[in-house]
Amino acid sequence: MNRVYLLLGSNLANPLRQISSALEKVASITKSYIVSTSFVYETPPYGPENQPNFFNVAVALDTCLDPQSLLSSTQCIEIEQGRIRQEPRWGARTLDIDMMLFGNITLKTPQLTIPHYDLHNRAFMMIPLLEIAPSICLPNGQRLSVILGTLDHEIINNIRKSHCI
Ligand code: ATP
Ligand code: CA
Ligand code: CA
Repeated sequence: MNRVYLLLGSNLANPLRQISSALEKVASITKSYIVSTSFVYETPPYGPENQPNFFNVAVALDTCLDPQSLLSSTQCIEIEQGRIRQEPRWGARTLDIDMMLFGNITLKTPQLTIPHYDLHNRAFMMIPLLEIAPSICLPNGQRLSVILGTLDHEIINNIRKSHCI
């Protein structure tokens, strides 16, 4: 059993409904159960700026699946909720599910990089994650709260707690 931290994100087609519907589907992933979820955070778009704000939720999930199988499950949920992969990257989407951390595993395959390759640069990932796991560390032992503290305060202040799920 591993504890995984997912980040769900949406900025299209009623994002709050997308998130709560995705949470129900994540809760029904085989051999896995949700331990906790963060508030919903509203975040300015990453990358292209001419798109609506994002809503993000971090989820702690205990799973007996291996990383690749869990990725297949989360990608099925994205597709079920109408996710279309398109250029440019980081464009608007109904649902994105990223695996931020998977236990203490470090992994790099063509399909999967764990921890998420950009976690340490993204306040919109670290803030919800730290809400549900305040003392979480990267597999290399670095505390995420310390890494977050090195980021620009303006970026951090732009991320607002918005809704309770
Ligand atoms: P970013 O990864 O920069 O947040 P994105 O979420 O928009 O961008 P996607 O199009 O959703 O990117 O994913 C591209 C590919 O990334 C997926 O097909 C998946 O195989 C791969 N991937 C690698 N590492 C991870 C991870 N930790 N979590 C989810 N997908 C990952
Ligand atoms: Ca993403
Ligand atoms: Ca993704």
